[in-house]
Amino acid sequence: MPTESTFLLAGLFLLLAAAGWALGRFGESDDEDAPPPLNIDYLKGLNFLLNEQTDQALEHFLEMVRVDDKTIETHFALGSLFRRRGEVDRAIRIHQNIIARPDLAAEQRDQALFSLAKDYLAAGLLDRAEKLFVRLAQGSRYQVQALESLCRIYEQEKEWEKAIDAGQQLEALGGRSLALQIAHYYCELAEAAAAGNDYSAARQFVKKAQAGRPRTMRGALTRAHIARETDDYKTALRLYHRIIDEHTYLISEALPEIVETYARDGSMVGLNKALQSMIDKNPEMSSLVAYTAIVNDIGGIPVIDECVEKYMLDEPTLAEFVDLQALSSASDTAKESALSKVRGALSKLASSTPRYQCQECGFSSQRLLWQCPSCRNWETQRPASKVQFDTVLQHSITN
Ligand SMILES: [Zn+2]
Repeated sequence: MPTESTFLLAGLFLLLAAAGWALGRFGESDDEDAPPPLNIDYLKGLNFLLNEQTDQALEHFLEMVRVDDKTIETHFALGSLFRRRGEVDRAIRIHQNIIARPDLAAEQRDQALFSLAKDYLAAGLLDRAEKLFVRLAQGSRYQVQALESLCRIYEQEKEWEKAIDAGQQLEALGGRSLALQIAHYYCELAEAAAAGNDYSAARQFVKKAQAGRPRTMRGALTRAHIARETDDYKTALRLYHRIIDEHTYLISEALPEIVETYARDGSMVGLNKALQSMIDKNPEMSSLVAYTAIVNDIGGIPVIDECVEKYMLDEPTLAEFVDLQALSSASDTAKESALSKVRGALSKLASSTPRYQCQECGFSSQRLLWQCPSCRNWETQRPASKVQFDTVLQHSITN
């Protein structure tokens, strides 16, 4: 089957022949070393194509039509077409061919290097792409795009120090503020340091994150986590409550930590009191508390158990599976055991259902992701207001 690139090249060969352009260029030459006249040349190219030898046809085209000022745009167009079609090897071959031209103007060289870097990126050859983008970032008209690409490469490679450097260079070019993005790079470093028990380094990174973006909640979460790990429960709890006050949805991250902090401190009564006053202040928190408790299997704390029970009884889909009327008149033990069964089932279902969704692109995931893997934006995920248990239950019944 001839591919689209076969037609593309065939079209180019025919175009060259029809225009008689290369004839005028080479045909009247007396030089024996000059390429043969086009009519033979393009027939040779077409012959490759007819035999489905696209690569040979491409090589032939590149030899036949040398890069010069008149043809360079054709070469660029052909290269980017191949890349967009996923034929990256061919795009690389074309762009390397342009770069090999000895008398290339500086601007055209940069354009070719930028195109080649994008080819490498498309081919997943990140280290080669990185080298070219670094070169272009040092001063070319592709400086901004090169730095943006470098940020993406370093994010993928989790090379956060380099990402910070590229982000700061980009900011210095005077475009937009990258404070949020750079704060997250520092938070990545802080979390890694904290995971390695290097709390003093972690604190420094959080400080840097908050220097650019003072109220970054991820930084506050890391600080709270460090405080808890270093037995400073008072600071930890103050920070967790502040985080929830400012961004209710972060209760999914904070609640398990709050429960753990109170448990370590041995003051579960204090926990119950603190949560109760939080819910009294903001009754909408009840369902968020319930959902987080279900997913994280947190129980045995009166105020949390109440939220969970209310959540289950308010869920209309569950009414089809649990006889709520009978349940309300049942004995406490029977009720408790029935609800605990439902809760167990919900926990399993909830943990297999996407809970978070990116507000920019709609990508969904089960856990909160600071950077959306699809559109690469930071802090764009929010929890769905309610888990669609009807869909989940339907799914589990049909399977
Ligand atoms: Zn997204």
